Order: sequence, then structure tokens, then C-alpha cells
Amino acid sequence: MPRVLTTVSEIRAALLPYRRAGQRIGLVPTMGALHDGHLSLVRASKAACDVTVVWIYVNPSQFGPHEDLSKYPRTLPADLEKLAGCGAELVMAPGDAEVYRPGHATWIEVGAIAEPLEGRCRPGHFRGVATVVLKLLNMIQADVAFFGQKDYQQAAVIRRMVADLDVPTEIRVCPIVREPDGLAMSSRNVYLSPDARRRATALWQSLELARQLVAGGERDAGSIIRTMTQTLVAAAATIDYVALVDPGSLAAVDPITGPTLAVLAVKIDGTRLIDNALLELPYSSRST
Ligand code: AMP
Repeated sequence: MPRVLTTVSEIRAALLPYRRAGQRIGLVPTMGALHDGHLSLVRASKAACDVTVVWIYVNPSQFGPHEDLSKYPRTLPADLEKLAGCGAELVMAPGDAEVYRPGHATWIEVGAIAEPLEGRCRPGHFRGVATVVLKLLNMIQADVAFFGQKDYQQAAVIRRMVADLDVPTEIRVCPIVREPDGLAMSSRNVYLSPDARRRATALWQSLELARQLVAGGERDAGSIIRTMTQTLVAAAATIDYVALVDPGSLAAVDPITGPTLAVLAVKIDGTRLIDNALLELPYSSRST
């Protein structure tokens, strides 16, 4: 079983021998309710580092007032079993009072990259994410931190913050892990009824459709978005956004002239799901 620490002084003391020995420290930030997507990050850390710290904390400041903070799944004993199976050495699972100490008054606001898409739908979300991620990067002082492409914009926001604030931890982004039918793994998938779970495959299907349309020569973003939207609406999904954006700036693109990120957020029976896929143009049709 991994060793579980709950305070900053404990985790720093636990890491000191590794640091003194010049060993590489890997960090996997999560909100727990671990699935194979999270475990893929742990495996990436195990492969690249000498010791892996898994951060487990449901961060209240990144949830809006009407979001699912109180019902978010909390499954620490099962999480520890899974982490033991992958050989993670340390778990940092702080309580709210350790993360947001009395008088906490500093918040991180990342600029333009945090504004569209999730930023627009979830006001204050990235302020909460950036603040807790900067705090956990400072607490652990890892060599490398591993994030998932599943939360593409989140990873972009964190990269921006780390570059702007000279955080020395290297940020690596790992591919999305999916269920056999294409649904991206998510801690929120447990909210889905069997019927909603079946309909949730529409997210992946709409991304696949976008990929096929682009591979077939379609360059009109509006037309691709309409097709994706139809697939989602047919599954009775409520759409927050469906967009084709520049993978670097996240600005909307139309027409498509180079590598493009298809990105979407929907609610299925009230459960909010996000997904994305990079659409690669055949080499010969890229504009230079
Ligand atoms: P969360 O616990 O949902 O905050 O996610 C913690 C980390 O795991 C984030 O960097 C996510 O992007 C990543 N993650 C979540 N789901 C997946 C997935 N299906 N595949 C790969 N990474 C994921």
C-alpha cells in the first residue's frame, strides 16, 4: 500500500530522502475516484521517475455553486488498493483545512487561454484549478507532473501558469484513456444510469465523425460542428459547447487549415461530460 500523508510538513519530510539522493519525483494530481485514466498517469510517472506521489483532493474552489461538489465520489480505500497495484509510493490526501488555511487570500487568474470553452461555462473554475495546482506544485516540488489530455484546456492553462510563474516542475500531458466503446473514462461516469451510459457514447461518435469528415476533405468548421451537434442531440445530450479550435490558442477556427482540436462539453441527464480529439489533416493538404 502507498504511504498516505495529509500535511505539507509530512509530505516534505517523506520526500526529503529521495531529494537528497538526487532521485526524480513524479506527481499525479487527481480528485480521487481513480480509474484507468488516472492510473495511466501513475504508470507514466513510474516509468519516468524514481518515486511517485499521487495527490488526491476534491478541491472545493473549482466547483461552481450549483455543481456536484457534495456528491462528487470519494473512494479513498479503493483508490489506495488501485495505487498499490501500480506501485505508487506516496499519496498526499490533505483535508480542506490544510489546503486553504485560515486567512487564505491569494488566487491565480490565468489570462486568455482560460477564457473560452470551460472558462465561459464554468466561471471561476480555472481560478480554483490554477490556485490549487500552483499550491500542490509548491507543496510537492516534483521534477515532473502528469496531467491528462482529457482536460485539454486545463492542461493548457497549467502550462501557461507554469511558464509565466517560473515553476520549475516539468508538465507532461498523457493521452485520453477510453472505455472499449469510446467513452472517455471519468470519475463522473458513475453518475450515469445504464441508459444515459449508452447514450454517452455519442460524445466519442461525434468526435470520430469530425475526424472522418476532415480526413475526407471537409474544411468547413460550421458544417462539421452541425454534424457533431446532430449526433449529440440525437442522444438527448444538452450541449454546453461543440467547437473546433486551434490546439495552441483555443481560438475557434473556420475554415480548417491545420491541426485542429475538436472539443465538446455536454450534459446527459444532468451529468456534465467533456471530451476532445485532435484532428490531423493529411500531410499533403496542410497549408504552410
Ligand atoms: P480528475 O481526478 O478528474 O481531476 O483528473 C485528474 C487527472 O487525470 C487530470 O489530469 C485528468 O486530465 C486526468 N484524467 C482524467 N480522466 C482521464 C482519462 N480518461 N484519460 C487520461 N487522463 C485522464
